[in-house]
Amino acid sequence: MLVVMKPQASEDDIRRVCEKIESMGFRPHPIPGAQRTAIGITGNPGSLPPEEFEALPGVAEAIPVSKPYKLVSREVKAEDSRVRVGPPGRETVVGGPELAIIAGPCAVESREQVFLAAQRVRQAGARLFRGGAFKPRTSPYSFQGLGEEGLKLLAEVRQEFGLAIVSETIDPENCDLVEPYVDVLQIGARNMQNFSLLKRAGRARKPVLLKRGLSATLEEFLMAAEYILSEGNYNVILCERGVRTFTDHTRNTLDLSVIPAVKTLSHLPIIVDPSHGTGKRDKVLPMARAAVAAGADGLMIEVHPDADRAKSDGFQSLYPDQFEALMAEVRAIARVLGRTVGDN
Ligand code: PEP
Ligand code: MN
Repeated sequence: MLVVMKPQASEDDIRRVCEKIESMGFRPHPIPGAQRTAIGITGNPGSLPPEEFEALPGVAEAIPVSKPYKLVSREVKAEDSRVRVGPPGRETVVGGPELAIIAGPCAVESREQVFLAAQRVRQAGARLFRGGAFKPRTSPYSFQGLGEEGLKLLAEVRQEFGLAIVSETIDPENCDLVEPYVDVLQIGARNMQNFSLLKRAGRARKPVLLKRGLSATLEEFLMAAEYILSEGNYNVILCERGVRTFTDHTRNTLDLSVIPAVKTLSHLPIIVDPSHGTGKRDKVLPMARAAVAAGADGLMIEVHPDADRAKSDGFQSLYPDQFEALMAEVRAIARVLGRTVGDN
């Protein structure tokens, strides 16, 4: 159920509706829009009588939400959501006209490695830096990340280069450790349906980058995002990173048609990760071009100063020169679409 307020409804009118929802044992989610505020209701086991809300002052109408997801739905919020990342005053906006470019190595390996990568990606126009300190690897014998030492190196990168930090958290307890160090909490493909992690991320004070599961449908992807919003964190950025199909010429099949599909169904921003999406260095540039052309709100690109000796995902990581070339092409495509990329 969605309670749509009249454009002239007062703060008191909105508060009264929220109190009414709480008194029924459910949770109100006020969502301010350009024209009017809408209040989503979660926690109700079935449909609610619209008259109960329509009788309250300031209410335009109470409408049932037809999709299984509510708070992520365009029905609840018509305008695109903009997610503010980073400290106030030095924020980057994801979902606005400027594309969000997140770049950096798969995993944090050393100070020298992250500083070299950060200097080059910053210079090329990236505003966000990625690097895993906790790596959910397929094999327990593969490099698992530097842990907290890696998070400390990421905090140094923020300090030194002014880049916002994106790093993965792998379970609810781990989230307590990662959250203070980062600007964006990343939830990886393997954890897209780790519901206790999603709930914990929903209580975080930081925005969340949610990657699509290895074989998740769009509905499953949006329902995972719904878990985060339903706990009160509305700052969610979706990330398409390829899904598993029968093809074996790439690591995953990058599903770019999910971008317009998400844009129809949801107000959340969506970025694309062509590095995991293809798994091959030479495929990253063409798919990055295509993602931006298809309407992605940004890109996540793995960049490593010594890619062939990387401890993880080297074969899909770009060398800094290649990333620079990618940014020049992406900048040109963005311009055609009326969008921008950070200055270099
Ligand atoms: C990553 O971003 O390094 C990563 C592990 O990605 P994914 O969860 O998409 O596999
Ligand atoms: Mn990786």
